Amino acid sequence: MGTNYLTGNNLTSKVAPVSLGSKQATNLIIERARQLVNQFIEQRGHDKPPFLPEEFAHLQGIKKIEKADLGGASAVLFRFHDGYVIKVNQKQSIARQAFSCAHEIGHTLFSELKLEQHIKNIEYRTFNPQALIRVRAKARERLCDAAATELLMPELVFRKYLSGFSISVHSIERLANIFRVSIQTAAIRIAEVSIEPCIALLWQPRLRTKSKGLQLAWSVGPGRSSRGKGYYMPVHTRVAYPSTLHKAYENDSAVKSFKLFKVDTAIKRCPMESKGFGRGETRYVISLAFPDR
Ligand SMILES: [Zn+2]
Repeated sequence: MGTNYLTGNNLTSKVAPVSLGSKQATNLIIERARQLVNQFIEQRGHDKPPFLPEEFAHLQGIKKIEKADLGGASAVLFRFHDGYVIKVNQKQSIARQAFSCAHEIGHTLFSELKLEQHIKNIEYRTFNPQALIRVRAKARERLCDAAATELLMPELVFRKYLSGFSISVHSIERLANIFRVSIQTAAIRIAEVSIEPCIALLWQPRLRTKSKGLQLAWSVGPGRSSRGKGYYMPVHTRVAYPSTLHKAYENDSAVKSFKLFKVDTAIKRCPMESKGFGRGETRYVISLAFPDR
């Protein structure tokens, strides 16, 4: 590995514990991603986005990023004696390629921090070894995604840009362009780092039905998508046709409505803004809901 400056410092000593909570592992990999970003900012002399993986990959011992035909895979990481090579799927969008690259850099941070030990400690109530392997793989990928998010949209820089304008559904596209990430990753990041509590939701047409209904694909609340106390869960996850959300789906203009959320034991009615993105079969609607407005 190209960089080994972590060896012996107190971050490394935090890695050793036998059992590491999931939250703790996430914090460790994000903290390490943040160090990498800071090193990059220092080197190039400014903190202006975008943060392109190919520009700072060398700091993490990545010799080359190659575009390749990878079939169904988004990216692959190869480890050689003198560093890493990332191959990324050239058929996917530029924003997707950047996220995949950053995710693979996340894998290098993951192995540097020896987080595999944490993954091995994940227990799961099952006698099916395949299920356990799947749960652990998912946990590993989630950690690398968290690192990728911090690399492409460093929390402090993203928040600085976010606070530059009042948050609305129009902020999503602007931030996605500035940070060169997809609309969906930008929307999730807004919900994660916004000072004003904000919930991001993605709606898609219900597949294999003729109902024209929309269905919730995911929602991310404040506090890094943890589903603990204070987590806002939409009461209804399906929307029948016609509706305000369908107006957003069918036109390009943003719409305003209200949405009920379950938070702890209460039900709260929150103002929500929605906008449609994408074309044809892949069209979807993103909403931002604001509990404090
Ligand atoms: Zn991965």
